[in-house]
Formats: sequence, C-alpha cells, structure tokens
Amino acid sequence: MQVAQVIVDVPLMQTDKPYSYLVPSQFEGLLEVGMRVHVPFGQGNRLIQGLVLGLFNQDSQHVAETEELKEIVEVLDVSPVLNQEQIWLADQLRKTVFSYKITILKAMLPGFLNSSYDKILYPTDLLTAEEEAQLFAGRQKMHFSDLDKDRQAQIMRLAQKGKIRLEYQALDKKKIKTEKWYRPDLAVLAQLELPKAAKKKQALKDYLLAQPQELLASDLGQEFSRPIINYFIEQGALLVEEREVNRAAAYFEKNYQSKRLELNEEQAFVVQQLVQKIGQPSKPLLLEGVTGSGKTEVYLQLIEEVLKRGKTAIMLVPEISLTPQVTERFIGRFGKQVALLHSGLSDGEKYDEWRKVERGQAQIVVGARSAIFAPLKNIGAIIIDEEHEASYKQDSNPRYHAREVALLRAQYNQAILLLGSATPSLESRARASRAVYDFLQLKKRANPLAQIPQVEVLDFRDYLGQNETSNFTPALLEAIEATLARGEQVVLMLNRRGYSSFVMCRECGTVDTCPNCDISLTLHMDSKTMNCHYCGFSKGIPRVCPNCSSTSIRYYGTGTQKAYDELSQLFPQAKILRMDVDTTRKKGSHEKLLSSFGRGEAHILLGTQMIAKGLDFPNVTLVGVLNADIALNLPDFRSSERTFQLLTQVAGRAGRAEKAGRVLIQTYNPNHYAIRFAKDQDYESFYAYEMAIRKQLSYPPYYFTVGLTLSHQEEDFVLKKAYEVMDILRANLSEQIQILGPTPKPIARTHNLYHYQILLKYRQEAGLELALNGVLEWTQARENKDLRLSIDNEPQSFI
Ligand code: ADP
Ligand code: ZN
Ligand code: ZN
Repeated sequence: MQVAQVIVDVPLMQTDKPYSYLVPSQFEGLLEVGMRVHVPFGQGNRLIQGLVLGLFNQDSQHVAETEELKEIVEVLDVSPVLNQEQIWLADQLRKTVFSYKITILKAMLPGFLNSSYDKILYPTDLLTAEEEAQLFAGRQKMHFSDLDKDRQAQIMRLAQKGKIRLEYQALDKKKIKTEKWYRPDLAVLAQLELPKAAKKKQALKDYLLAQPQELLASDLGQEFSRPIINYFIEQGALLVEEREVNRAAAYFEKNYQSKRLELNEEQAFVVQQLVQKIGQPSKPLLLEGVTGSGKTEVYLQLIEEVLKRGKTAIMLVPEISLTPQVTERFIGRFGKQVALLHSGLSDGEKYDEWRKVERGQAQIVVGARSAIFAPLKNIGAIIIDEEHEASYKQDSNPRYHAREVALLRAQYNQAILLLGSATPSLESRARASRAVYDFLQLKKRANPLAQIPQVEVLDFRDYLGQNETSNFTPALLEAIEATLARGEQVVLMLNRRGYSSFVMCRECGTVDTCPNCDISLTLHMDSKTMNCHYCGFSKGIPRVCPNCSSTSIRYYGTGTQKAYDELSQLFPQAKILRMDVDTTRKKGSHEKLLSSFGRGEAHILLGTQMIAKGLDFPNVTLVGVLNADIALNLPDFRSSERTFQLLTQVAGRAGRAEKAGRVLIQTYNPNHYAIRFAKDQDYESFYAYEMAIRKQLSYPPYYFTVGLTLSHQEEDFVLKKAYEVMDILRANLSEQIQILGPTPKPIARTHNLYHYQILLKYRQEAGLELALNGVLEWTQARENKDLRLSIDNEPQSFI
C-alpha cells in the first residue's frame, strides 16, 4: 500500500508538519506529488483540503505506525497543480518568509484553485465509442463529484491520455465576474412612440439609432439616467444581458504594432552583455537606466534571444504599470506566446492564463508580483522592471518579496535575473557596488531627439497667505497656460486623494476620526461621506462638531477632487482627466483613462502617484508636482528614498520625444536633499548621500531588519504579549542583535485592533530563523489564540 505525505490547510491550527494518509488502492500509481486531495482531519474527521508533498510505500522507513492511518477521501486533480520546482521553492522561501508552508504553497496557485468548484467531464474524439457508451451512457457530460472512487480513478487515467476533457465550474457563482450589456432591439426602437416633451428619451432613442451596437451598461449609464434607460428596457427596446467578463481575450484581439527598434550604442552594449549569459550560471544584474533610456526595448530584445534558444521568460512589472502601453508592447512583439497575469483579470481568466503557462503554450509571462510563481519551465530570463517598487513585497501573509523569489528561480533554472530601474532601491544599488550583482547603466534617453527635462523647484512658502485655497503657485499656472496654448499636454501629480483630507472644528480643534482606527476620516465630496481608508468605515459628513457641537466646521487639506475643481475654474476650456483611487475603482478604468489621454482626448491629466510610472506620451511637455512634501513627513526611514524615486519617476514623464519637457515641483521643503537631488535627477549622488545616513543610523542596506507586529483588541494584553515575545527573542538570539520595542505602530489602532511592533536589526545572526520559528509556534498556544502576529522579513513599510 502507498502512503501520502499531505500538508493540510487548517486555518486555526497551522503547522509545517505533513500528515500521513493511506492512498486508496484505486489511486495507486495515479496520485502524484503536487496534487490536491481531500482528507479527513481531527476528531470529527472533517474534510479538509491538502497537498501531496511525498509518496512512499507503506513498508518504507518514512512511515511509522501505519495501521492507524486514515485514507484519502478524494483526489482533486488529474495532473499536479504544483511542480517539483515550486515545492522546492516553498522549502527555500520558508527559511526567510515566516508564515506556514501551506500559505506559501497556496500563494503559488491561481485563486481559482483555492475556491470551490466542480469538474465537468466531456468525451473527446480519442475516446472510443465503446468507452463512451460505458461511461457516459448517452449523456453529453458528467460531474466528477457524482462518481465513485473506481470510476474517478478510471476517469483520471483516461484524462491523462487526453480521452476526456475537464472543465472547471465554480460552485460559487459570485466568483465569476460578469458585466451588464444592453442590446438595442432596432425593430422595437423604430416603433417606439415618444411624447414630444420627453426630450431626454428622444435623445436616447437618437443615440441608439445612431450607433445600433451593443453597449456596456456602465457606459450608457454615464450618458443617460437610470429611469430613462429603464423605460427603454420596459418597452423592450433595450435587451439586458449578463456576460462573463473576458478581458484577457480583449488584449489579444487587438492588433498592436510593436516594431523592433534599432538599438543605440548603450542599449546594444547592454543587450550584448546579457545575451552572452543566457543559459550560463550568472550573478543577478542591475540595470540602472535613466527614465526614457529605452529599458523596455532592452527587455524585449533580450526575451527575443531567450526564445530563440528555446527558453522562456518572466517579465514582472508593478501592478499599476500594467497599462495597455506596457502590455501592448509585449503582445505586439510576441503575440500569443504571452500569458498575462494581473489583477485586472477575473479568477477564471487568470486560471486560463495560468493553464496556458502550465501546458507550455505560453513562453513569456508578463505580470505583477505573484506572476513570479508562474509554472513556467526552462526559464532563460527573469526581468523585474521598476525593481525599487514597494509593491513587489506582499504586505500580507506570506510576506515574500518577488525579488527574492526571482533569485531562487534564477538559480534553479540557471536563468538571467535582470533588475531594471531609473532609481534602484538602495539595497540593490549597494549589492551592485559590492559586486554581488553585475552593474549595467543607460545614461542617455533612447530617443536621440529627447532630452532629460529641466526641473524647477517652487517654494510654496513664498506664496503663503496669498491665496489660501489654491493648490497652485502662479508660476505653475503660467506654465500650464503656456503649455495649453501650444496645444501640448500637462500631467499634474498630487500625492493624496479625496476632496479634503480631513474635517476639523475651528472652536476646539477636534478632528473627526474613525471609531475603529487612530486616523482621521477622509472627506469624499462625490459620495458625500467621511471614509476610513484603513477599515472602510463610512458615515455622513458632520454638520456640527462631534466634540463641542459648534457649527464652525472646516474642511482641511487638499485632494485631487479639490484640485480638479480649482483647475476647471481656472481653465474652463481645458478638458481634465482625474485619476485617483476613486476614479479607478472599477476594473479597466485606469487603462481607459490613460489611453484616452494618450489619444489626446484631454489636455490635463491630474492624478495621485499612480500616474508617475510607465507613461510614455510624446505630447506631454509639462509635469507639475502639486505637493512634493507629503511623503517626506512619514515616520519611515525610507521616506526620503520614496520621495526621491517618486519625483524622479514623475519628472521622467515630460519631454519623452522631440518636444522639450519642463517639470515644476511645488514644495515647502525646497532644501531637503531628496528634493534637491530629484531636481538634478541625479540618482548616483542621492545614493551616496542617503547611504551615509543609513550607515550612521544603522539602517538597511547596512543592517538587515525584521519587523514583528502583534495585534489584539485589548491594548494591555497585546503589550504584555509583546514583552513575552521580547523574552523569547532575547533568550534565543545573540548579544549583537538589536531588539527595539515594543512600540505602538505609527497608526496605533486599526480595525479595532491595537498594533505593537518589535524591530530587529542585525548584520549576522545565526540563530534567527530558529528563534522566529519559535515565536511562530508560540502563537499556536491556546492562550495566544486571539493574538495576531506577523513576522515581516525586511519590512517595506513602517506605518
Ligand atoms: P524606459 O523604460 O527606460 O523609461 P522606454 O523603454 O519607455 O524607456 O523608452 C522611451 C522611449 O524611447 C520610447 O518611446 C521608446 O519607443 C523609445 N526608444 C527606445 N529605444 C529606442 C531606440 N533604440 N531608438 C529610438 N527610440 C527608442
Ligand atoms: Zn477605520
Ligand atoms: Zn468642536
């Protein structure tokens, strides 16, 4: 008899220890490592999902008292969903990512496989008439879950031979994303009699007759009001259809042009350096290339060479950069060889793309953070664009950094690991200095006619008191006016959202705060609500002070909506697009706004930091940063680095083609070094300056850090527990390590939980892994049940 080592997924009783289960005789020889199973667990023999990580014969030494073993109840997959490399990867990652192995393994699977679904079976042409008659008995399809074990085993065998096709169907219909479409019924429409006075109904009728095609309900909803549309639906002139959203297909249907460019000397040198290394063991490479230096073309041509050698490639970009611009260039060049993995796709679509990769039908994976786990085989190159982006680190369990995963996969596959950025993270740049990474540079803009834009810093303090409500200095307004007059485009960045960031009482100074979190509520004029950006709490706008009942309530701060209103008053003739969390909440709206701006349908693009990256619009000649300071004031040792990166990135949006670009930065801190170096767009000098500070303060990259956060509803309890953790750490770690804390997090309470953090700083610490795993085990003790603990290796955010 065979015995399977199964790692189980029990939310409240996590462990890395696999359990042994007997393999039912029918599945012997069929069950493989990497398949999912249902097994009975605990005293109640509740059925839970598990993953097979090993298979042994019962008499082997791996298996002890076998007679007590329970049997696997159901096999969930016909072929493994995790391959050997992924299982190896989970073992490696477990050394630096302090969450249980099952959490890491689950992160490698598309979300769809973690939800409930049924397998539907269809005969294929390969199935003989005899087999079909015996199994299907005249039916066109069968449900896998209806079959007994013998039949299931038989089906698995046939499916592995391709004689049966499987389709997954979500049991939870809510998982499938649909959108509403309207189809005009032209015959009914033509007959529709409308009273003369019904101008709006007439307008809709004309509109539908003018373009008699199917319409997305949300699009029509923007042009006409609900009652008007409903009238047409009631009359049968508009037919309503719910359709499954299929955005992946839409990407591939368009016919993009992505012409191969003649490389300039710098680019050619870099590509040549890289190509030599394909298939060779090599160090990771850092490519530091100024904005607009043509890094993307380097990536594309490297991938081309990788494919020529029969290998595959992963291209990671930050989620926010997955705009049509980037996607188009890859699909334009490589067509259906590309699999796209990003959050804009539904679970079903992600699963389809994942299957394309798994079956070897796609050779290039383009995606955000989690795409690093794509089951691609024989990888020749892994590229991480904008490698400094904090979004490559997952900020919930498992807290992995895509760069660390990439390092492991590059090692396993002997693949090139290329990290690209105009403003590399200090960690990566320092590794390049110490020759841990190889170092490559692109110092010029790729388009020979483009120049690095000129950056000017405007001191907001010079205008203080002159125009209280304005987000704009006169110098910036003048520049906007001049740019619009030339028929060119403007990009404006404001590092905030909402109408006013908070509401304060003028009498007593009370700021309206969230009842669950220690932060002020944000005023949203569009929805007329006060919202908490942490827990989602929402309420109406107060008319009187919640503290002293005074009516002198004032709206403070600025936001994109307010800046938008000011702009539209100042430039009534200009068409302005606003892009922030509120206007891009709907899937695809981010892309829509950008491509509309790219087509020149608006003069000004006003947005939060999401506009800073990856945009390449030749007609943008002015970039304005309305307030450069917000990020500087955050209690985080990376705030200067983040500010420098953001300003350099956004400045890089100007003057990318023939027309010269101008960048204006408004700030209250014109002498801050992050702003001065950003003005000169001088990464290397910023790097040297910031490194000296990090060294002085013993921060990364001179020291390694681990952050532990404990959370609980009661502050006394969490503080007491934090000291217990301190004791465990002290007992198990050396004298050299610095153990700081426990201190309340900068935002001390969210979701009704108090958060305390402990920070470890060290250069070398042999016992660290063991000690941290010890803390993790400690949380499983009964008395710590309600306590939440997260262990974050190299935390990217301290807020
Ligand atoms: P980066 O990613 O380094 O900011 P991009 O790859 O977006 O830069 O390139 C900037 C612009 O330069 C793009 O419009 C691109 O088409 C153009 N470009 C890139 N390489 C070349 C080249 N060799 N010759 C001419 N134009 C180029
Ligand atoms: Zn809240
Ligand atoms: Zn008050």
